[in-house]
Amino acid sequence: MAQGVKGKLNYRCPRCLMREIDMDMLYDNENKEYYCIRCSFIGDEKEVQRVNAQFREKYVDRINRISDF
Ligand SMILES: [Zn+2]
Repeated sequence: MAQGVKGKLNYRCPRCLMREIDMDMLYDNENKEYYCIRCSFIGDEKEVQRVNAQFREKYVDRINRISDF
């Protein structure tokens, strides 16, 4: 694998985030991908943002009290 560097934006690994682990990803300039050294997540910026959006969805209703089921 090519030498990883810190990306211009420091993204957290979305997959680790789902397990409540705060992990910065490294950027692979050659493949233009971010990757996580902890869980082997690999994805370009779009993929990172997509999984991040998925993660946020989980908490989208957190400020509303849900009383109807
Ligand atoms: Zn990870």
